[in-house]
Amino acid sequence: MRKSMTTGVLVVGAGHAGAAVAVQLRQAGYAGAIMLVNDEARPPYERPPLSKFCLLDPAQAEAPLLRPGGFWAEARIDLVSGVAVATLNPPERKAALSDGRTVSFDWCVLATGGRARALTCPGADLPGCHVLRGHADMERLREHLATAQTVAVIGGGYVGLEVAASARSLGKTVTVIEAQERVLSRVTSVPVSRFFEGVHRRHGVTFHLGHAVSELAGRGRVEAVVLDDGTEIAADAVVVGIGIDAETALAEAAGIACHGGVVVDAQFRSSAPRVLAIGDCARHPNDFAGGMWRLESVQHAQDSAAVAALTIMGETRVYQDVPTFWSEQYDLRLQSAGIARDADDFVVRGDLEQGPFSIIYLREGRMIAVDCVNNSREFMAARKLIGTRASLDRALVSDASMSLRAFA
Ligand SMILES: Cc1cc2nc3c(=O)[nH]c(=O)nc-3n(C[C@H](O)[C@H](O)[C@H](O)COP(=O)(O)OP(=O)(O)OC[C@H]3O[C@@H](n4cnc5c(N)ncnc54)[C@H](O)[C@@H]3O)c2cc1C
Repeated sequence: MRKSMTTGVLVVGAGHAGAAVAVQLRQAGYAGAIMLVNDEARPPYERPPLSKFCLLDPAQAEAPLLRPGGFWAEARIDLVSGVAVATLNPPERKAALSDGRTVSFDWCVLATGGRARALTCPGADLPGCHVLRGHADMERLREHLATAQTVAVIGGGYVGLEVAASARSLGKTVTVIEAQERVLSRVTSVPVSRFFEGVHRRHGVTFHLGHAVSELAGRGRVEAVVLDDGTEIAADAVVVGIGIDAETALAEAAGIACHGGVVVDAQFRSSAPRVLAIGDCARHPNDFAGGMWRLESVQHAQDSAAVAALTIMGETRVYQDVPTFWSEQYDLRLQSAGIARDADDFVVRGDLEQGPFSIIYLREGRMIAVDCVNNSREFMAARKLIGTRASLDRALVSDASMSLRAFA
């Protein structure tokens, strides 16, 4: 095996963002060598199914690959799996791999994603307590769900609720514990939170809202979750879904500016020349958030990769895409666009009890975000309106019989 290699672009991480930047570079006509290094053994795969049909459906227990097996070689992308980039030396444009090789590069793209946060309370390291970020996590959880009867999900965010829906659909007794007073509090409004809580309750999920976990109890393996008020919830399996931290260790050790993510500009350039960062790990200027922001979505992974590829090709395109996200729980598909955090008003279109519905978020009369439940047709039109920061007449937009396209 050669000990030292040279490449044009070294991509660190082959999740949605890393895989996309390699592909985008080829599509943009980049002719140099591309090396895509990933510490996971599995070739690049889709992450969203891990909490959804991979848990549910034995016939779909493997997450689909992002590209078929032979694609990478055909595209002359050197995919190196099961190997980490251990250190980075930006001034010398060199990296060391965990298998002992060194790589010299012209450009480096950090696409290192995020690490699932772990609980820190007593008992958090007991067997039977899971996080869900990678394929191997999903395989462990799926295996455990084959025998577990009671499942406690800690964290009522997207991943937590998706796991709850999957476990409930498998017939498990499911309890969701959330420290805030409502689920999805970080990402959506009160009506949408209450809608999803109601759906889960109707499916038989039990909630403990506004409670922190003080301990995981069990002899040799987890048997119960103990809440801050002393309540004990029996659990054969515990799934912790309390968010991620951007994976910045490599960048930080290389002296690259990091602050809750690798800090980049609107072309995804980090503080080190010729080192870019994209996807979940990048803290970037975002007009829709009104400042520096980190997005965790497949769409952002792809959008940031497209801009980064052009940056490497010497073009000046700045990132301005509308942030979008989706979640699937039971037979519901939630699609969100924009960032609703600073909304001063909202309008409900459709049936907030049963769906389908959309909630349009406004700030000073302009549309800044939308949440659509089983309403894909409205979603496309809404996303366009957010992109143009359209001014909307509240009374007119409240009339769900009027197509959103009419406001374009
Ligand atoms: C269970 C689950 C469900 C989700 N569902 C949805 C959904 O429905 N819709 C949606 O939009 N988004 C969803 N997401 C979020 C979405 O998957 C992420 O936003 C997306 O994967 C981000 O892509 P990324 O490439 O930035 O990071 P990742 O996909 O996390 O990829 C980063 C890769 O880099 C590797 N890596 C890290 N450090 C190194 C290193 N030093 N050397 C080599 N490799 C390294 C990691 O192991 C990983 O494989 C979900 C996420 C999870 C975990």
